[in-house]
Amino acid sequence: MDGFIGPIARLVDEFVKLPGVGPKTAQRLAYFVLRQPDVEARRLAEAIIQVKERVVLCAVCFNVTEHSPCALCANPARDHAKICVVEEPFDVAALERTNAYRGVYHVLHGAINPIEGIGPDNIKVRELVERVGQGEVSEVIVATNPNQIGDATLNWIARVLAPSRVRVTRLARGLPVGGDLGYADDVTLRRAMEGRADYN
Ligand code: ZN
Repeated sequence: MDGFIGPIARLVDEFVKLPGVGPKTAQRLAYFVLRQPDVEARRLAEAIIQVKERVVLCAVCFNVTEHSPCALCANPARDHAKICVVEEPFDVAALERTNAYRGVYHVLHGAINPIEGIGPDNIKVRELVERVGQGEVSEVIVATNPNQIGDATLNWIARVLAPSRVRVTRLARGLPVGGDLGYADDVTLRRAMEGRADYN
């Protein structure tokens, strides 16, 4: 970043790496931090460090957690025979807010996207197949995002789970097409979950 003194240029360079942040926004953010009281700036830096030090992935469902297995997987009151498959941890939080689901989850950490070179081996598909193969799973609800990539991922999962003969369902249509599941409002998401139907 030409024209900035060292520490500011470094901060701008870091902000510009964030998703959806261009050079202009990165500069605005850097100057915002500069104008903040020391205590606020430290709080931000500390939160970034803590998220890397304290957050791990659950060994069962791959959701983000401070302790593995996560609170959902460790909860005997949840229905462990139902697994809801989502793309991101963010989606678990959104579905939990609806109170419409009492099963457990499986976080893929992405979706199959050939254009970006992301194949089934780059996300947690194999782990899902293993999990279904091990346990007493009666239903896998595939709640990928309502877009082309999410649908392609759903189709792939249904195919690889076919030999296990587990019931595969998908959310009801009606979620805003092209959007992210995690951004849908609670009522829409609740209806999508309650109205889920067999994949085939
Ligand atoms: Zn878990």
